[in-house]
This record gives sequence, C-alpha cells and structure tokens, in this order.
Amino acid sequence: MDTIQSAQQAVELVANQAILASQQGTFAVGGCIIDNATGKVLMAMHNNVLMPYPGSTVQPPFLPHDPTAHGERQLVDWYFANRERLHLPAPDKLTVVTTLDPCAMCAGSLLSAGFNVAVSAIDTYAGINYNSQFDFPTLPPTVRQKAQASWGYYAVAAPINRAYQGAASGPAFAGCGVDAAAFSLTGSIFEASVSSVRAASNNSGLPPEQLHNPATLPASSKVRQALTALSPWSLEVTCANPRMPGPELAPALVDTADQADTPNAVALLDPFGNLLACLGGMEHQSPIRTAFMETTRGYAELRWKLMNDNDPQVRAQAAQYLTHPKYGTFVFLRIPDPNTSEAVMTFGAYGSTMEGPVPQSFPSNLQYVLLPPGVTSQAVADLAQKLPPFYTTSVQVAPSQVLDARLISAVQAKR
Ligand SMILES: [Zn+2]
Repeated sequence: MDTIQSAQQAVELVANQAILASQQGTFAVGGCIIDNATGKVLMAMHNNVLMPYPGSTVQPPFLPHDPTAHGERQLVDWYFANRERLHLPAPDKLTVVTTLDPCAMCAGSLLSAGFNVAVSAIDTYAGINYNSQFDFPTLPPTVRQKAQASWGYYAVAAPINRAYQGAASGPAFAGCGVDAAAFSLTGSIFEASVSSVRAASNNSGLPPEQLHNPATLPASSKVRQALTALSPWSLEVTCANPRMPGPELAPALVDTADQADTPNAVALLDPFGNLLACLGGMEHQSPIRTAFMETTRGYAELRWKLMNDNDPQVRAQAAQYLTHPKYGTFVFLRIPDPNTSEAVMTFGAYGSTMEGPVPQSFPSNLQYVLLPPGVTSQAVADLAQKLPPFYTTSVQVAPSQVLDARLISAVQAKR
C-alpha cells in the first residue's frame, strides 16, 4: 500500500476507488484508512452495494448484494477484523478519508468506532453534513461534539474556492486542501451513479400480490435450507398480520438475543407474516456488527447468492418466494438509544436497506418491542425526523413501538 503525503494524494487515491466502484455499476464512492503518524494507507475500499456474485454464470446477474456495503462501513469492519493480527493503531490515531460525505449509517459507524474522518465532496441529500454547515443537525449533542472534534472537509482550490471546514487537528492533513479537478471528480462520479443504483436496489423484488409463500416450500428446497442456515427460527414463526406481530414472536427475539453478544435481536417478517431471519449482534468482532446490521446484511446476501445460483430452478424459487425487505417488517427486540451514534447508524442502515420510497403502511415497517431505560418513543421518533433529507423525504424512516401489548408483556415475562 502507498504512503500519502498530502490531502491531494489522499483524495486522488480514494477517487481511484470510486472509479472502480463506478465500473462495477455500484455507488461511485471510495475510501481508505490512513495512519496519521506515517501517512501509510492501511486499506482502501469502495462501495459494494451492487456486486456480481463470484463464479456465477447467470445473465443478467442479480447485483443487489448488501445494502450496508458502503466503503466506510466496510473499512470499519475490516479494521476490527484485522486490528490484532496487523497490530493496527487505535482508531483515534487513524483517518478514514472518503470521496463523499458519509451517509447516516457510515457516520454512525465511524463515530461509534472512533475514527478521524476527512471528506472531499458533500452529499446534500444523504450526507451527515448535508447542509454544509458542520453543525450536524442529525447528531445527538455528545455525538455531534465528537464529530466536530475529529472530522474535516478539505479545502478546495480555485475556481471552487471552498475553505477547510473542520477540526484543527485529528483528521490527517487537517486544514489542507485539494485541487478543483480532484474535488469535482469525487462529486460528479457519485452523482452520475446514484439514481440508477438506488432504483436497482429499491426495485429488486416482486410486489407482495405476486409473491409465493415460502412457508409452503418443502424441506428439500434450497431456498428453505438457506433461510434455516441463516437463522434457525426462519419459517418457524408466522404472525397473522406482519404489521401487528403478536406474542408468538417473543421466543425467537428473546432466545436469539440470549445467544448473542449483546441483548438485542432483530427479526424480519415477510408480507405473509413469516419470520425470515432473526439475528443477534456480533459486537465482539466489531462494535458496528449490531443485530440490525447482521439481520439486514444476512438476508440481503442470502438473496443475492440464491438469485445468482447456477441452477435456474433455485433462481426462480428465490425470485418467487423471497420478498424485498421494503414489503416486510423489521422488529427490534430493543430500539437503540436515540442519544447514541449506534441509533444514527441503525436508522441510516434501515434507509440504505429500503434505498427509496417504502409502501406506506400503518404502523410502519420499522418496529420495536422495548425502549431503552428512560427513553420515550417520542425521542426515538425525533431522531428519525432529524435525519438527512433522503431518509425523511424519500424513505420516511418512522420507527414505532409494536401495537400488540401482549408481545411486549411476553418479552418482559421472558427477561
Ligand atoms: Zn454510507
């Protein structure tokens, strides 16, 4: 890996990653981790939300791979997977440099992990600094202070003439700038990719009225076997109304949380009310591998793999039986505390999973059983209302507590 000596070199390096992402047909965003002390590039990665399945001969390939596979989120998980083996410095001695202002999910990930951050282009729609004011209106107060102390937006030379905005120390090459060509490339290459990638992700499944019920699949079905391998509770629980889960969901949520690192679990129900996946967190591997991140990623990767199976019958079954999550319901055992970076990450990751308008329903398809101690449902809703415009106007993130009080009682009785 290279050693970087200037903001210009850092942005050129991550811009090259964005070009690779563009060629792959996914969001054209790239990032890297730099060691502040030496300028050494520890890792560089690009967005992989849309990705061909390795070894598949399927044409056309089914590309929706992992809605959470943004460059920055992957860099955070890479860091925690390799920190001990490579004796990596602490996150506050490192900088994640990115072509584009991080979205809510990535901002929450980076702040949870404690990296310094340096940014080239602004994203006025989904970026955490969407208003370019460096006041981060989305972030809870303590998290905002952390961002203001460790993030920076590089200056841009004429004819753009943007001043450096951010912490005086912390980010690598704090106070420095880049030329207009590098800056313009990082913004325009993303803008060219965003609409088509969002549409491909948001429109990648049959509407509920055309979907078949996976609970009818025989034990020999590869789709059923893949679901069971992901989550032993898969297709073992069915709620009569997927938007009104009842006490029948309590054992899956509680038992899954009991077996996880942290006492949380998230279930995904399909439009038939079937539990498709219910996973807990893996925070001992990475602080951002929370229950929601594991559930949405696990299900997306399962779908991506089956939809690219070289057996046409498996592909057809996957397409007929597996819903897009926007037609399903996510049910959290516990919603994250809205005063934390984890909550920002979680709502951001939900937005990335939807990747566009969600069919309107009451209650919404983002639900939780328990609130953190001392937190009101209004405080949770307020955080959702402060997210960048993409999440409030397009996705319309609207977390709500489950309506069936028997589910809440059943969970409390088991804790
Ligand atoms: Zn992101």
